[in-house]
Amino acid sequence: MQLKHPALLKTQLYIDGQWRDAATTFTVRNPASGEPLAEIAKAGGDETKQAITAAERAFASWRKRLARERSQMLRRWSELMLEHQEDLAAIMTSEQGKPLTEAKGEVAYAASFLEWFAEEAKRVYGDIIPSHKTDARILVTKQPVGVVGAITPWNFPLAMITRKAGAALAAGCTLVAKPATQTPLCASALAVLAEEAGIPAGVFNVVAGDTRAIGEALMSSRTVRKISFTGSTGTGRLLMRQAADSIKKLSLELGGNAPFIVFDDADIETAVKGAMASKYRNTGQTCVCVNRFLVQEGIYEAFTEALAKAASGLRVADGFAEGAEQGPLINQAALDKVEEHVADAVKLGGKLLCGGKRHTLGGTFYEPTVIADANPQMRLASEETFGPVAACYRFKTEAEAIALANDTEFGLAAYFYARDIGRVWRVAEALEAGIVGINEGLISTEVAPFGGVKESGMGREGSKYGIDDYLEIKYMLMGGI
Ligand code: ADP
Repeated sequence: MQLKHPALLKTQLYIDGQWRDAATTFTVRNPASGEPLAEIAKAGGDETKQAITAAERAFASWRKRLARERSQMLRRWSELMLEHQEDLAAIMTSEQGKPLTEAKGEVAYAASFLEWFAEEAKRVYGDIIPSHKTDARILVTKQPVGVVGAITPWNFPLAMITRKAGAALAAGCTLVAKPATQTPLCASALAVLAEEAGIPAGVFNVVAGDTRAIGEALMSSRTVRKISFTGSTGTGRLLMRQAADSIKKLSLELGGNAPFIVFDDADIETAVKGAMASKYRNTGQTCVCVNRFLVQEGIYEAFTEALAKAASGLRVADGFAEGAEQGPLINQAALDKVEEHVADAVKLGGKLLCGGKRHTLGGTFYEPTVIADANPQMRLASEETFGPVAACYRFKTEAEAIALANDTEFGLAAYFYARDIGRVWRVAEALEAGIVGINEGLISTEVAPFGGVKESGMGREGSKYGIDDYLEIKYMLMGGI
């Protein structure tokens, strides 16, 4: 990997403002080639406890800083990310596999959360409430919850950390970040820039390594007052159980099973454009990726054929290759799951319109795939495929589409394409999802609240709401006046 600033590439743990080794290491690999990229210091329970202690110590002074000071450091951190956009993107493509242009886009997206929360840091207002007694006054203030543990996935190795760290640090909390073991290099590069931005020792710590040991240390600590997690619903459930003992606050951003409904009155070209962006971005590995295309019968053939044409034209390549549009899947387990879902769908009557097999590039590359005649019995109807597979279902009426869309325990994102204004309102209100894209396939932005309903999680990230999850409300009654 050629970097303009090789100092961004760190393989140690970042605890209390220091770069530390550990007794053992683990290997990070490039998913496009399977080749080893780096040996990373492997944190366990002890290192995590040290990071928690550092964060606790740092909290005492960080919370007392002027909001303006915290804001300035967050803003500087964001600027530094943009100054090093190329290098950060190269690190990301190397360890995560996404095309370099997408990686650059993620760097900007990740930096936007730091900028956003730099601004929000200054707007944590309280209230004065008209009192219920003549000789008393009621005040409401907001205070940081304390030390926060952030557990993040590999699909957005920078943005999932900054979305949490930006809000936490703005609120006055300190943080211990546990990145996914597939993508620790992005997290440590972020720590290099945090240090350069002047963020004091202990405020932002990074421990990658033994997932179970780190998880247990974070979850069993009574110092850690909140966990913000992005990942699978299974792990989210486990963390929720583990949080019970110390009644930790939780923000959970879990799996999805996003429907994408195309009504007869939709504009096909726009719908296909949105479908491509939402389905094949990051090789289908985002929690808001479409998992089910529900298409009304009058437009079914036209839409599915246009989608297959667009999907089969995607350039599948190593993320560093010129014009690459779809990279590899993250690992063998991801490839196995995609293969199983496709085989199951074909067995149950699914018709392959394009793709349906491993790509000739080998490794974990898979062809962009479109399957017509999908039905609710197929595994890809109820499970998140997390790969470049578009399964298309047929429906007749609006009521049927809504019932199908909501027939899942998940409720993160939903999309639909329609022009009739009455239908737009009815469907938008009826969909059980935290995020609804109407005639639009890309919904992620730092200015809007991101999060799910049902078993897709709790809490919201980004936007003016995102900081609330890191604040406690305190009410003071001043009597004897
Ligand atoms: P994915 O399938 O996307 O990898 P996971 O939920 O397994 O989703 O992983 C998301 C994050 O949660 C990663 O950082 C992973 O290491 C972490 N993780 C997985 N299992 C645990 C656990 N038992 N305790 C704490 N963190 C965990």
